[in-house]
Amino acid sequence: METGEERIEEVAEGWLSLDDALEMVLLFDEKGNIVYANSAAKKKLEYGEELCGIHISEIFPNSFHAIENGFQTEYEFGEKRQELMAYRRNRTCFCAEVKILKRQKSKKMYVCMANDTSKRDFLEKEIANVERKAEQAQKVKSEFVANITHELRTPVNGILGNTKELLELEKEEKKLKILRLIERGCKDMNGIINNILDFSKLEAGKFTLEPQKFHFRNMMDYVKANHIHKITEKGLEFFMTISPEIPEYLIGDELRIVQILNNLLSNAYKFTAVGKIAVEVVKTAQVNNRMELFFLVTDSGIGIDKADQDKLFKSFSQVDASISRKYGGTGLGLNICKQLVELMGGSISVDSAKDKGSVFSFSIWIELPEEEMSEASANVDYHMALGQRMSLHQNGNEAEARNYGTAENLEEIKNKMSKFILSVEMENWEKAEMFADVIKQLTAEAPKEIKNVVLKLKMAVQKEDYNKVQTAFEALQALL
Ligand code: ADP
Repeated sequence: METGEERIEEVAEGWLSLDDALEMVLLFDEKGNIVYANSAAKKKLEYGEELCGIHISEIFPNSFHAIENGFQTEYEFGEKRQELMAYRRNRTCFCAEVKILKRQKSKKMYVCMANDTSKRDFLEKEIANVERKAEQAQKVKSEFVANITHELRTPVNGILGNTKELLELEKEEKKLKILRLIERGCKDMNGIINNILDFSKLEAGKFTLEPQKFHFRNMMDYVKANHIHKITEKGLEFFMTISPEIPEYLIGDELRIVQILNNLLSNAYKFTAVGKIAVEVVKTAQVNNRMELFFLVTDSGIGIDKADQDKLFKSFSQVDASISRKYGGTGLGLNICKQLVELMGGSISVDSAKDKGSVFSFSIWIELPEEEMSEASANVDYHMALGQRMSLHQNGNEAEARNYGTAENLEEIKNKMSKFILSVEMENWEKAEMFADVIKQLTAEAPKEIKNVVLKLKMAVQKEDYNKVQTAFEALQALL
């Protein structure tokens, strides 16, 4: 017959690997005497080998009481962990999360597993403390930024007002020149103050959009008027294309759309010395009374290295110090654009290469006023139908769109291919599929090998397989 000691040995052997465990493990018998303790238990409870032999009530005196030949407890044995005070040898104590299981074979035995939670509780409290302090600091910072920007704006506007008055009174060209410089400085400063204010509001989650009905083309004219002077002053060409599919009136936060476009256009001419700047807007989707618009701002400027592109949309980020020295700026503009675009349910991205110009594109979702709903088709309007209509509108007529091989057709395909790959890069697969449809349509009369590649392209998009898209795209580029 198995002796008690042998049984304990066996049980302990089975648990030997527990000696390495971080959790405390104790085995005690029905009398309450501890018969096995792993290293973690000895260490935490500050005992040596003598831990084996002492009564469980020494360790958990609030929950286990020694009685003759046993113990009394209200502890509920089982899988559920309970919080008990565990006492060390020197009678100091700590809070432990304890699970005690009752086991019975030849002899009744209890397996106790315990974790010291005092450190965890302490850490949790510390984390909560740090979080609270960080929140407070963020609040103080936001309030400070809001106050300081407000305080700055008042004197700047004062200087601006006075300068404007002086500009009207002054006749001497030399002084007028200085006054214009002051005026420009004030306007720039106001721009920076507004950016900081927007940024702090967006960061604090206190920014709300203010959608209103507005005239889309008037808004685009206003954007153009804001910049055309500076663009032509630099000797750059300017193009603006608006898809005729976009209704006259829309409901959205016009001011913020203008802000995004202003920012992208200011950057475009800031970083472009020769060539052109173009703005294009197309309707890319419609779901009931909501419409997705896709904006592209293209420039032929200094471009941005691929490696630097992902930091562009982070706050205070400029490509490098030499750029900020040469061109100025706070590095907040694109981050604000990104946050605004995301508030409007869209996304923003850049396609650029050093010295090859840049294409900044963004999408937003916007509402249609009721009167425009009858004009624009309701329900889901994606993919083929939209693709067909888009290419028709942009090409003027269907025959021209299908007339494969003409210069216009080739240019149109290339244009759609660049939008297509941009959509893939943005992981906007629905939009990519739509552009793939347009390319398919534009190549409907192309040689078979081109049509096959286009088909592969479309299938790869449907599978959302980036690598296959890339291969088909390169193959198509090579064939064209
Ligand atoms: P900033 O106010 O400094 O212009 P932005 O966030 O608008 O801040 O732009 C951040 C940086 O991105 C710029 O400093 C520049 O390095 C780069 N950048 C933005 N737009 C362009 C562009 N069209 N061409 C080249 N670089 C650009």
